[in-house]
Amino acid sequence: MIVGVVKEIRTAESRVALVPAGVEVLCAHGHRVLVARGAGIGAGYDDESYVQAGAQITDAASVWGEAELLLKVKEPQPSEFPFLRSGLALFTYFHFAADEDLTRAVLDSGCAAIAYETVEDAAGRLPLLTPMSEVAGRMAIQEAAKYLERPQGGRGVLLGGVPGVTPASVVVLGGGVVGTEAARMAAGLGARVTIIDISLPRLRYLADVMPANVTTLASYPENIRSAVKSADVVVGAVLVRGAKAPHLVDREFLRQMQLGAVAVDPAIDQGGCFETSRPTTHDAPIYEEEGVVHYCVTNMPGAVPVTSTAALTNATLPYALRMADMGWRAAIAADAGLAKGLNIADNALFCPGVAETFALPL
Ligand code: NAD
Repeated sequence: MIVGVVKEIRTAESRVALVPAGVEVLCAHGHRVLVARGAGIGAGYDDESYVQAGAQITDAASVWGEAELLLKVKEPQPSEFPFLRSGLALFTYFHFAADEDLTRAVLDSGCAAIAYETVEDAAGRLPLLTPMSEVAGRMAIQEAAKYLERPQGGRGVLLGGVPGVTPASVVVLGGGVVGTEAARMAAGLGARVTIIDISLPRLRYLADVMPANVTTLASYPENIRSAVKSADVVVGAVLVRGAKAPHLVDREFLRQMQLGAVAVDPAIDQGGCFETSRPTTHDAPIYEEEGVVHYCVTNMPGAVPVTSTAALTNATLPYALRMADMGWRAAIAADAGLAKGLNIADNALFCPGVAETFALPL
């Protein structure tokens, strides 16, 4: 099969959908891999490294025109819509429900859209979202440590303290993938960590695997209020699938927090866990409300494209390889979890939520 990789053209997107090691694996299976010139530069891979792995470097239009399976990171941008066509299978993040123009363009084109964000594993988890949540969780603490520093507007507290001085208090709302990685990082730096989750089985698991400086707490307003009051850092990592994140910290709670405390809210992509959260970018990541520094970047992994690319491609390559080996139709017929990724094919839409949002037929 001809597998294509293009350079991401969305602003500030430096990740790439396939690393040279992935090219080598696909070529070993007898596939031809076309990579657009400069596709991997932002993630640390030059064209030569792809050639060494067996790829052919060409221009973006040729990749779009010849590929049977095209691997991307972000959804096609409007300038790429003319390249969509039947006979092409596109494997990338789409997030159709957020973009009617994209949905209609893909539907009209006849191409097949297999979306990373809806692929499921045998346990019903989302294996192609997990790596980015891992990155965001770990990064949340790195950013919190930075913005806790006085010159950055924070309280001037060192997360781990020093011998004889109390370490910082970090509260993590939601103990899923993001929350677990954030708690692990904060605990590793020596902070006192509290994870608050609504699921008792999850809290039991976390209490079992986390180090002694991590405490678990059930998610009730009173528990949240008393934990955030004395916190130096609060991380918003709650997810309710298919719904907006609940505002677990309202403005009234926030007013009771310490001046210069830091609120990092990865859940901003679902509306955020703080009433006062609003989306920010890497160019202007923070703002202050009620004396609390807010960090609400919607695309946190974009700041660390080298790590994010490696993490993403580790997860996507096995699926891409199977679709290249078997053809995407046979691959999804053989894997119910991968089939969940099929959002659009043959001018038909398979997502009830997207159909309802844009009044489109299923
Ligand atoms: P997850 O499903 O693994 O975890 C969510 C956790 O929230 C679960 O453990 C659940 O029990 C808990 N929860 C639900 N309701 C709760 C409540 N009322 N109180 C306390 N806990 C509650 O999700 P995740 O992968 O950790 O993602 C968390 C959020 O981070 C999502 O919104 C995700 O989209 C977002 N995210 C953002 C970025 C970014 O760059 N900003 C990157 C990756 C993920």
